[in-house]
Amino acid sequence: KEKPQRRPDWLRVKLPIGKEYAKVRKLVDQHKLNTICQSGNCPNMGECWGEGTATFMILGNICTRGCSFCAVATGRPTEYDAEEPKRVADAIHKMQVKHAVITSVNRDELKDRGAEIWYQTVVETKKLNPETTIETLIPDTRKNWDALYRMMEGGQEVISHNMETVKELYRAVRPQAKYDRSLEHIKRIVDAGRRAKTGIMLGLGETDEMVFRIMDDLAERGLHVMTLGQYLQPTKMHHEVIEYIHPDKFEMYREEGLKRGIKYVESSPLVRSSYHAERHVNVPI
Ligand code: SF4
Ligand code: SF4
Repeated sequence: KEKPQRRPDWLRVKLPIGKEYAKVRKLVDQHKLNTICQSGNCPNMGECWGEGTATFMILGNICTRGCSFCAVATGRPTEYDAEEPKRVADAIHKMQVKHAVITSVNRDELKDRGAEIWYQTVVETKKLNPETTIETLIPDTRKNWDALYRMMEGGQEVISHNMETVKELYRAVRPQAKYDRSLEHIKRIVDAGRRAKTGIMLGLGETDEMVFRIMDDLAERGLHVMTLGQYLQPTKMHHEVIEYIHPDKFEMYREEGLKRGIKYVESSPLVRSSYHAERHVNVPI
């Protein structure tokens, strides 16, 4: 197959400008917060930030891992700020966020994987914003299940853990993660009676069969919400885009996911795991 040269039309989006965008940006900067929207150069910033939505990234902006698709810096993290939960809660309050998505870098060097900060962030956010619903996109705890349960304890509505790609591509895409271990995170979230969500990127070289297999594996574990979107290369140093998947194919995957019993499947080129996230709060569990 020939390498794709340029982005097809369906991936062209609005530039992130406008009053709301500027307001969100200012609040994020003032509160010294990190967002995955900025670190990941997300193409939806115009839309999401224009609506007052942003995905906050806690526990610093240096990650112990080096996934080949991800623009977050890899290294030895230094930040551990007990005040961070309050700052996040405060920013969410000032931004009047109706649905907050919170994620973090991986903190493999911490014994509790950052679970305490995670827990406090949800608790503080709920305290200050009782009407705000929350999705936490949590990292791989490397089988520290106590850490996983602590991360879930604050009362958030949606708990997501991204599989990111199909099993066959883990080594190339997510070298420090394990497919079966991530599936176990999903299973434990479901078994705890919570709303479980995951996301994968397409265009990294996966085949239909591989995508169907991960859907089967996730459906078997009772997953409630799945997102599928086109992978875009953040810089030339990152994993190549192998293919730009046509919107019709995304639609086919959506139907296949639903057929397998996953209750809500969000699948189109610009979907990111936090895109339209407010719609996932009411998916029945
Ligand atoms: Fe941020 Fe997610 Fe929206 Fe992208 S889709 S701008 S990462 S909230
Ligand atoms: Fe990026 Fe998360 Fe991988 Fe860290 S663990 S490199 S933040 S995708």
